Amino acid sequence: MINLVLFGKPGAGKGTQANFLKEKYDLKHISTGDVFRFNIKNGTELGTLAKSFIDKGELVPDQVTIDMLNAEVEKNPEAKGFIFDGFPRTNAQAEALDCLMEGKNMMIHATIALEANDEILIERLLERGKISGRSDDQDESKIRNRFEEYNEKTAPLIEFYKSQGKFHSVDGIGSIEEITGRLSKVIEALQ
Ligand code: ADP
Repeated sequence: MINLVLFGKPGAGKGTQANFLKEKYDLKHISTGDVFRFNIKNGTELGTLAKSFIDKGELVPDQVTIDMLNAEVEKNPEAKGFIFDGFPRTNAQAEALDCLMEGKNMMIHATIALEANDEILIERLLERGKISGRSDDQDESKIRNRFEEYNEKTAPLIEFYKSQGKFHSVDGIGSIEEITGRLSKVIEALQ
């Protein structure tokens, strides 16, 4: 079993890469952003709550996100492993994830960050916003707020995973295939 955290700022390419890696390594991909958007689309209570934060470029509160993630893992008891995309984003979430893994005799094997600079990321997100219609991608001030949230709440997790000896980073600039290749190298060196 292999459990990975894909890490990086908004627009770094986590979702795109997770879609390739899940096929290549037969893993279940859990994207917290996708689960929130699914709930928003279906008008659930969770969706309504999440929307009020997402539309401002803020993080959804920890407990809501942690409970949702737990439920997603429990829906997949047969999975050969997971790719967590967009989770954890805070210290409390990282600790909750370790707890969840421990309770199931599982562990996070590696956290892999996709690196790219802010100007490129903003360009990518504004492009994505035109196609996807995602409201949080269409407004530069919301995007900047997401970067601030990342710098303040998520970046400290680099140290959290470094102290566990699990942090890896790859250059997130290049073709999609090139980047999949870089990630695959890290994953294969774990086995
Ligand atoms: P991106 O990483 O490109 O910003 P996501 O689809 O991963 O896009 O997330 C979109 C939004 O969903 C985030 O800006 C945040 O509001 C919410 N969200 C996603 N994951 C989490 C999380 N782990 N904790 C809190 N909020 C989250």
